[in-house]
Amino acid sequence: MNANLFAALQGAFPADLDGCAIECADGPSLGLRYSWRDLERGSAMLANLLLSLDLPAGSRIAAQTAKSVEALMLYLAVLRAGYVYLPLNPAYQAAELDFFLRDAEPAVLVCAGANFGWASKLAFLAGTRYVFSLNEDRSGSLLQRAASMSDEHSIAERADNDLAAIVYTSGTTGRSKGALLSHANLLSNARTLKDLWGWRIDDVLIHTLPIFHVHGLFVASHGALLAGAKMIWFNKFEPRAVIARFAEATVLMGVPTLYLRMLGEAALTPAACAPMRLFISGSAPLLLDTFTEWRRRSGQKTILERYGMSETLMLTSNPYRALDGDRLGGTVGPAVPGVEVRVSKDGERLCAPGEIGAIEVRGPNVFAGYWRMPEKTQAEFSADGWFKTGDVGFCDANGYYSIVGRSKDLIISGGFNVYPAEIEGYLNELDGVAESAVIGLPHADFGEAVVAVLVAKPNQSPDGDALIAKLKRQIAGFKVPKQVFIVEELPRNAMGKVQKNRLREQYRAWFA
Ligand code: AMP
Repeated sequence: MNANLFAALQGAFPADLDGCAIECADGPSLGLRYSWRDLERGSAMLANLLLSLDLPAGSRIAAQTAKSVEALMLYLAVLRAGYVYLPLNPAYQAAELDFFLRDAEPAVLVCAGANFGWASKLAFLAGTRYVFSLNEDRSGSLLQRAASMSDEHSIAERADNDLAAIVYTSGTTGRSKGALLSHANLLSNARTLKDLWGWRIDDVLIHTLPIFHVHGLFVASHGALLAGAKMIWFNKFEPRAVIARFAEATVLMGVPTLYLRMLGEAALTPAACAPMRLFISGSAPLLLDTFTEWRRRSGQKTILERYGMSETLMLTSNPYRALDGDRLGGTVGPAVPGVEVRVSKDGERLCAPGEIGAIEVRGPNVFAGYWRMPEKTQAEFSADGWFKTGDVGFCDANGYYSIVGRSKDLIISGGFNVYPAEIEGYLNELDGVAESAVIGLPHADFGEAVVAVLVAKPNQSPDGDALIAKLKRQIAGFKVPKQVFIVEELPRNAMGKVQKNRLREQYRAWFA
């Protein structure tokens, strides 16, 4: 049997190929409706274009484009032609693109027309053979060339372990690494989530996440495609426009920042949310405040928080069905079926319930390794095949996991471990604090000193010293920040993750 992921996705297309698969809700294609047949034909023509280039087996096809349905079709075309898809954040500038081109050596680069000059120069220097342009408005050489191709294409035969995509990690704690994902990694996780989250053919997904990252490209798109469900497609996130489409939708996937921004809209009411069956959040921790406030404002719709990463796809999820348990704020839920998760102490023993340790995982969803980094790959897997996620957390007596931070963000102050998420939890509860990031800074006496960077609630100006004094009454002294900085906003990447490396850099010399 062909293990090509595209074969499984295509096999799930509804019988009526003329039905609407994707409706564009913004941008230059606003109002355009793509049928399932359009997806089939468009991806076939693009696949035939790739085949006409006579590329070596295993070629990487890099895409650094704006979000559009055609960009999604390019992803599908790469799968069905049997090449390896390499999505890149369109915000990357020349130095960043140069790194990815030299590291991954793609045979083809598809970029925005506006960047074609500098991007193609870098690509050709790095050995890339072909550069095409693709713009949000469906212009560019990629579609021009594909227009003369046949719309019939038979899907390339692929085995389970053949490579389907390389996704570079977001690099919030170091150099970006290319995670190697196989057809079987992607398909097993997509099938698991389809069952777990109750996807149905009559679902309608609001797709408003970027498609250069695991969340939007795989979790969201595969979910809808594998269910034969329609997508309402936003190229950008605009809270009011998204809420307005709840009326015709059933599922939304977002990062916490998106939920926070929708909470700022008066249009977010129980009536507006009534048609929606499922709100999912992931990619970064969902604040308890956001979780609770969403439930109140939406008429008791509880956000389902899940946890995963580029290297492993989705690992844990709060329950979908009430009979499987409650969705608990501040937790990321139990392991998803078929995926093993454990918490270990120094790689030597398993932690007891509630005890904090390193999260390790195993399963058909876990990647094969990092692109051209055999030592790094070996170092990140235990001898018995568990992948060390680099996340620190614990599991409670009911099997629900909570993440307390990245191991690289762990602070060791005066020999004591301080878990940033714990301190952030206390800080966020204090008057006037909207959100916080706790980091460690080099310190002569303590090795690292705990400091907090805070964003104030609108029209409030909390006093750093008073907050420190309050915390001293709540938690052990070694955990209390020695210094509080108040800023307008925390630096975040496109997926809403706080970039603590940038904060550490900014304040590095504070105690020098
Ligand atoms: P990425 O590979 O860019 O998707 O980043 C994966 C990392 O995001 C994980 O290792 C976690 O540190 C973090 N992450 C993802 N989902 C959650 C969540 N629900 N809560 C807390 N952290 C999360």
